[in-house]
Amino acid sequence: TFITFEGGEGSGKTTVIPRIAARLEADGFETLVTREPGGVPSAEKIRTLLLSDEEEELDHYTEVLLFAAARRQHLVEKIIPALAGGKIVLCDRYLDSSLVYQGYASGVGIEQVREINLFAVQNWLPDRTFFLDIPIDVGLARIAKNAREENRLDQKGRAFHEQVRHGYHFLAEEAAERFRMINAAASSAHVEEEIYASIREMLY
Ligand code: C5P
Ligand code: MG
Repeated sequence: TFITFEGGEGSGKTTVIPRIAARLEADGFETLVTREPGGVPSAEKIRTLLLSDEEEELDHYTEVLLFAAARRQHLVEKIIPALAGGKIVLCDRYLDSSLVYQGYASGVGIEQVREINLFAVQNWLPDRTFFLDIPIDVGLARIAKNAREENRLDQKGRAFHEQVRHGYHFLAEEAAERFRMINAAASSAHVEEEIYASIREMLY
């Protein structure tokens, strides 16, 4: 079972994923927790290239290709073997991040980015995607403690993050069978409970 977590900055993906994994493990399931971009050494190198503040701005199309390349390698080296071994894979971001960040918010176009990414993943789509939805200001306030993140946010600006949220809403409607929208402004206990209940319902 392949589950991905999506959402804007400060939506709480990284906090909730290990908690969900712990509960599933306690229920007797094997899990793999991983994240994008990165997850395997070669893809982590691409992550450094993509996300380091020192890098000069990359061309948007180059960015799309690098994210897709990192995604492909992570999928083949880590996700597919885990799924083949019967694990529940919990992945922090996947192709929907590219559709939203590069396709929609950066303006490359969702359809073009989708084409590249469907080539990269060759039909390995998630069984379920949790979109942790949070108002921009609430998300930004949560991560304001982290100076590096704050810097990145200042660079992109608020309008960019509004676009990200808008893009996710579009995808959640377009792929409603796979998407579940979670109110991530709620307490982390509540968010965890809602996601866990949804996964349990899938598994039993
Ligand atoms: O910790 P988190 O996954 O939220 O941070 C990853 C960062 O990478 C985000 O700030 C997001 O802006 C960026 N990103 C991106 N395009 C993707 C995936 C992530 O711009 N496809
Ligand atoms: Mg995170």
